[in-house]
Amino acid sequence: MPVTTPIKMTPEEWRAEAISRFGPNKMKWRFVCPSCSHVASAEDWKEAGAPEGSVGFSCVGRYQPEGPGDEALAAAAFKGKGGPCNYSGGGLFGLNPVHVDLEDGKSVHMFAFAEATVQPLHTPGKPTETGV
Ligand SMILES: [Zn+2]
Repeated sequence: MPVTTPIKMTPEEWRAEAISRFGPNKMKWRFVCPSCSHVASAEDWKEAGAPEGSVGFSCVGRYQPEGPGDEALAAAAFKGKGGPCNYSGGGLFGLNPVHVDLEDGKSVHMFAFAEATVQPLHTPGKPTETGV
């Protein structure tokens, strides 16, 4: 998996980033597991019956009752592909790359956001139609 430098954000910046990528509906916010690269939306965590605090924090594979099974989950972890896996942001390996600094001095370590499915309007510099 790629080595990433933690990205530091305030909660406001984090929310703004999420909204600019996915819109205001939190259920549509999508995250990339830093262990297996599986992309899941908050909806996926909810459907799996995961606690709210696990969204964007622990891989959704931990919570899917009809998932691929414990062995497959463990095998997918730390491979950077496939998944979901059983990675937990609270475990021994702190891979979560986005550090959201809270006002009380604590820092919550989150998964990175997935690429937006809809391009935000304010991304200049990306060629769209290259004049045929
Ligand atoms: Zn994972």
